[in-house]
Amino acid sequence: MDRRTFAAALVVGSMLVAVLYSRPARAGASGGGSATSNAHGAHGEPGARARQSPAGEPRDEKLWQRALAIHRKAIVIDTHNDVTTPMTNDDYDLAGPPPVPYRTSLERMKQGGLSAEFFSLYVRPWYVTHGGAARRTLDMIDSVYRAVERHPNDLILATSAADIRRAKKQKKIAALLGIEGGHAIENSLATLREFYRLGVRYMTLTWNNTNDWADAARGERKHHGLSPFGEEVVREMNRLGMLVDVSHVSDETMSDAIDVSKAPVIASHSSARALSNVPRNIPDDLLRRIAKNGGVVQVNFYSVFVDTATVTPQNDARNRRLKGQQDALDEKYRDDPERLAEEGDKLDAANPLPPLPLSKLIDHIDYIVKVAGIDHVGLGPDFDGAMDFPEGAQDVSMYPNITYELLKRGYSEQDIRKILGENFLRVFAEAERVSRSLSKSISGDGSVKRIR
Ligand SMILES: [Zn+2]
Repeated sequence: MDRRTFAAALVVGSMLVAVLYSRPARAGASGGGSATSNAHGAHGEPGARARQSPAGEPRDEKLWQRALAIHRKAIVIDTHNDVTTPMTNDDYDLAGPPPVPYRTSLERMKQGGLSAEFFSLYVRPWYVTHGGAARRTLDMIDSVYRAVERHPNDLILATSAADIRRAKKQKKIAALLGIEGGHAIENSLATLREFYRLGVRYMTLTWNNTNDWADAARGERKHHGLSPFGEEVVREMNRLGMLVDVSHVSDETMSDAIDVSKAPVIASHSSARALSNVPRNIPDDLLRRIAKNGGVVQVNFYSVFVDTATVTPQNDARNRRLKGQQDALDEKYRDDPERLAEEGDKLDAANPLPPLPLSKLIDHIDYIVKVAGIDHVGLGPDFDGAMDFPEGAQDVSMYPNITYELLKRGYSEQDIRKILGENFLRVFAEAERVSRSLSKSISGDGSVKRIR
């Protein structure tokens, strides 16, 4: 989830936090409409919706066929998808076209050759100020369980690297759970453990809000990284086998998490700061440290994170243009943050920004490979958590375009498979191994430790 503007984040004062965080910023949409308009391909065929070349240039048909063949064999993992929000709020069950302006559906997952989907349990900071963060997380977990119950032939709940490989063999899509925002555990290690028992396999330590134990990239600088309790959270995640996700956190928190974690860390949806200078992206020194730690950076596709120099001015202009309509929504839905966000997304979708060329996104993969190495990059698009994406990478059906572009740039089949999913699987399996080595003791210290 990354739809907020930087302007909103920068002017946040403590009294205004609840109001601003419940405000869907005008981050934009390239439109569910354009994404659905060319959906004419064969059902379940990877790349069926990707036949039109994203940039409109003629496609090398032989290379495209090779891309599809590689893609079909590969394990393809999306580590961050926010479709869980409409699944929870609107009981959207992933069958049929997604409700406007969202873009994820079962059919599109199949068309994209997806092997595993991490359903993001994004908990708005509103639930911190109003109560119910853990309850909201539980409701979102339930929506994913219900989707699996409704579609037993297509989806299977997965909680391990081996589960993902098994799902691929069974021709099903592995459904996994990841918490976005450490405030979801309400400062309770017991609650963290309960979420693990329900199947949650990663937790993003913060969202854009600094919480009681970790600073966020766009939040207040309060702890200068992880607090002592934050370090305990990371150690308990290691012991459980829950991946430590450093997307959204401040550089200091990222550095601390890498220091404390005994298992490799992930960034479930972050790109390279050198190519797009936003605090949510990862600077070179931390890319190198994640590589040394054995972790993986899953590239975020959101256009602002791909090329802020081009997109942010367009976004700002749109925000100014839509301010009146947004203010009216803020007033109308001031007590309903979920509805407010949905209506804001619709407004964005009706006012799309011009999409970036796909090459700009592939540049991030190239760059992280150059700085961190081929073993430390993957894909975490942030679909349905942001609204503007590059041409040809606008929803889960379009993954084969990435494989094609990587082939065009000379990546080998083995390297492409690493990027599509094998790097993440290696990290996941290693976190499980670390957990087994640490889990000889009884859960935690048995206390209901709260830090306030
Ligand atoms: Zn996010």
